[in-house]
Amino acid sequence: MIVLALMAALLTGASHEEARYVMGTMAVVRAEAPAGETAVAAVDAAFAEMTRLESIMSTWREDTEISRLKAAVPGSWTTVSPELGEVLAAALDVAAASDGAFDPTVLPLVKTWGLRTGALHVPTPAVLDSLRQRVGYRLVEVAGNRIRFLRAGVELDLGGVAKGFALDRARSAMIATGATAGVLDLGGSLLVFGPRDADSVGIVAPDDPARRVATVQVRDACVATSGQYERYVEIDGHRYGHILDPRTGRSVDRRGSVTVVAREGWLADALATAAFVLGPEAGAGLVARYQGASCVFVSEDGRGGWVVTRHPRR
Ligand code: ADP
Ligand code: MG
Repeated sequence: MIVLALMAALLTGASHEEARYVMGTMAVVRAEAPAGETAVAAVDAAFAEMTRLESIMSTWREDTEISRLKAAVPGSWTTVSPELGEVLAAALDVAAASDGAFDPTVLPLVKTWGLRTGALHVPTPAVLDSLRQRVGYRLVEVAGNRIRFLRAGVELDLGGVAKGFALDRARSAMIATGATAGVLDLGGSLLVFGPRDADSVGIVAPDDPARRVATVQVRDACVATSGQYERYVEIDGHRYGHILDPRTGRSVDRRGSVTVVAREGWLADALATAAFVLGPEAGAGLVARYQGASCVFVSEDGRGGWVVTRHPRR
């Protein structure tokens, strides 16, 4: 009887959906709840949480907690908000697992290349060499809510993991407000939760957003995609995308995309970026190390088209 009553409440419950600009992108949040005002409150809570996390983790603004860390004295510990400690620990976990393909200290490289401003500047080998002194996940340590840099000039960039982490926290905020189910789309990273039918999420051709080349089924999980096809600078016919290989100091020279599905948003986001750097083979190997995570690579087939590979295969 209780189950039936619950199901009836779900079927007759209310829902609310809103789109707002946050974390540098358009976000759409939908909540399902027993009552309309609860659904509205849950959507509000999700946006409030994403906005709060942006003011901690954004490196696009100087007034955020992460940007202020630049002033930290190398070798000495700084107390940070628990969220920053947590997301950094998560990022360092994937950094170690990917042997530095994913690296939350890439910011000096990103800035030097001009990938943010669009004013591309190809650094000389000497400059790349000197940047290497300031880039490397082993140059930062985290212990709970304290972090320290081991060398001067180290700068954090959580752009490869922050949106996924924010989706996790927004989900928690929605559940705490009373939402029974939800769909959160943050600039293409999607998180769904609650007793809904599986959502079919399309993966598009990297050169044609109108053409679907694969579909993934998502249930109580997050799906994140990384690729160079949306954010890049083109010079002399050469594309420099916003994802760098920290091991070479250069933009990853690969077309295509990788989509990762995982229970946690931070993991899907970080693994997608890491797997894109590693490429289909090593990338799939990395994803396979995380229980419950799966990935879809869309790679060039050498004849102007795309080839889709899934791991685990099914
Ligand atoms: P998007 O921001 O489009 O969702 P990603 O999640 O793949 O894409 O993150 C890309 C961002 O992560 C870049 O804009 C940059 O700030 C940062 N980044 C670039 N290369 C790396 C890397 N190798 N490891 C970790 N972060 C990276
Ligand atoms: Mg990512």
